[in-house]
Amino acid sequence: MRMLLFGPPGSGKGTQAAVLARELSVPAISTGDMLRSAVAARTPLGERVESIMLGGQLVDDATMAEVVRGRLEAVDACDGFVLDGYPRTLPQAEELDRILDQQGCGLDHVVVLEVPEEELVQRTLDRGRADDSTDIVRHRLREYRNKTEPLIGYYGERHLLRAVDGHQPVAAVTADVLVALGRGA
Ligand code: AMP
Repeated sequence: MRMLLFGPPGSGKGTQAAVLARELSVPAISTGDMLRSAVAARTPLGERVESIMLGGQLVDDATMAEVVRGRLEAVDACDGFVLDGYPRTLPQAEELDRILDQQGCGLDHVVVLEVPEEELVQRTLDRGRADDSTDIVRHRLREYRNKTEPLIGYYGERHLLRAVDGHQPVAAVTADVLVALGRGA
C-alpha cells in the first residue's frame, strides 16, 4: 500500500497517518515531523527551515525534494508507505511521481481529509504547537488553499483521489479511510 494523506492543517493527517501505518504495516512518513526533528537537532537543514516553519510558510520545493527522496529511498518506497504532509505543491507532486517511477512503482491511493474551516482553526489552536497561533494558522490555511488544494485536481485526473469526512472521531475517520482503500470491514 503506497498512499498519501492530505488535507488542511488541523485535519488530522498526522494522527491518521500513524494509525493507518500500523493497520497497514507500512512506515508513516511525515515531512512535518522530519523537519521538526531537524530543527530540534539543530542540523543545517533545521537551521535553514526553522523560521520558515514558524512563519507558517512552505519550505521550498528543492529542499523538500531532497528530504523526501532520501527518506523514500531509505525505506524502499515500493514496499509501501503512508505519506503525510508531502506533496504540498504541484512541483512536489511531479517530483514524487519521478521518485516512485525511478523505483519502479506508483501510488495506489490519495486520501483527502475534509474538515470545515472553523473547526480547523479551533483544532490547530488547541494543539498549541509553536507554529499554531491564530495569524499563523490562518496563513497556513491560505498556503493550503493556494498551493496544496490544486493537488485535488492533479490526483482526481489520475483517478487516485478519495475524499473522507475528517470531521468525526478518530476511529470513525480511520474506518472510513480503510473503506475508501478497499480494506474496510
Ligand atoms: P505539518 O506538520 O505537515 O503541518 O508541517 C509543518 C510545517 O513544515 C509546514 O507548515 C511547513 O512549513 C513545513 N512542511 C512540511 N512538509 C512540507 C512540504 N511538503 N512542503 C513545504 N513545507 C513543508
